[in-house]
Amino acid sequence: MDDCLFCKIVAGEIPADIVHATERTVAFRDINAQAPTHVLVVPRDHYADAAELATADPAASAELVLTAAAVATAEGHDDYRLVFNTGAGAGQSVFHAHLHVLAGRDLTWPPG
Ligand code: AMP
Repeated sequence: MDDCLFCKIVAGEIPADIVHATERTVAFRDINAQAPTHVLVVPRDHYADAAELATADPAASAELVLTAAAVATAEGHDDYRLVFNTGAGAGQSVFHAHLHVLAGRDLTWPPG
């Protein structure tokens, strides 16, 4: 996708604080962190949201979760929250699938 922010981060065209990378995923710190650890894990290939990714590439979808767990562990967190905002009404603002990894503070439920 020519005009996708996260495709450009994956391609190295826009800088990001990358903390982990695998064959199919890249993880980088959220620019507007909502917790001491707030990392976004994205597939290298472009899919608009989590369901589109899971349909087209289940292995990459699983790798996203495993990368998220590795990031949480590396940052010393046993407890963490994973979030896929899906659709603008649910808060999705970047339409390249991404998994939020949030940890390092009390995470209340339900989320806002
Ligand atoms: P969402 O609102 O679920 O689509 O999440 C998109 C996330 O991307 C937000 O939490 C933003 O803070 C984050 N974000 C936007 N631009 C950048 C960027 N250049 N680098 C890192 N994170 C970003």
